[in-house]
Amino acid sequence: MKNIRIKKQLVKIGRKIADKELVVGPGGNISARVGNIVYMKASGICFEEAKASDYIGVDLKTGKIVDGSKKPTCEIAMHLGCYLERKDITAVIHTHAPIATAVGMQDIPFRPFSPDLAALVGNVPTIKYVVPGGKELAEEIRRVIKKHNAALMCNHGLLTVGANLREAYYRTLLIEGACKTFVAAKSLGKMKFFTKKEAEQINNLEAESYRKTLLTLLDETSDELL
Ligand SMILES: [Zn+2]
Repeated sequence: MKNIRIKKQLVKIGRKIADKELVVGPGGNISARVGNIVYMKASGICFEEAKASDYIGVDLKTGKIVDGSKKPTCEIAMHLGCYLERKDITAVIHTHAPIATAVGMQDIPFRPFSPDLAALVGNVPTIKYVVPGGKELAEEIRRVIKKHNAALMCNHGLLTVGANLREAYYRTLLIEGACKTFVAAKSLGKMKFFTKKEAEQINNLEAESYRKTLLTLLDETSDELL
């Protein structure tokens, strides 16, 4: 089997996504790019049941299947669009994270309000609701991912990208956690986002740049780190 290592990483991350209930059933999809091949979950497969052979390789430019026999996720255009827009990423994670989905309905600019969010994610814009699985959704995501590492998807879910699967996965967890904090803060009464200056101060800290590097360290020891 070709590229077994990346398929194993996808299987592992997919199971974690299911364990954390960021997706229920066959929803959501993840992908990882190796050169010009993008491996993504086959259509209709549940993360907790997915095997290495359920991750299908498609050509980045043509979208044609080059490894595997199943049909790739219906969100194939959304995944390929992210890689075409951002040469620096090799992973895309799309979940139906419940609290992030709720925050996505508020149509607010979701800016960092904690050091983790400022250093590891940045601003998270919201895209309008469009029918899943189509070109329009792919275009909306592509427009936003050009300059951001994540997008809240109104009435749908969350998408994150990363230099590797580990970074994209932790961004997903960070945003879902931050959305819980946001809801809690709102219910208590006060909510405060960082000012632009406060976010910049975090990004200038040496300790934060070290943590950022740690998140993207992967390949040689990735099986243990994931
Ligand atoms: Zn979805």
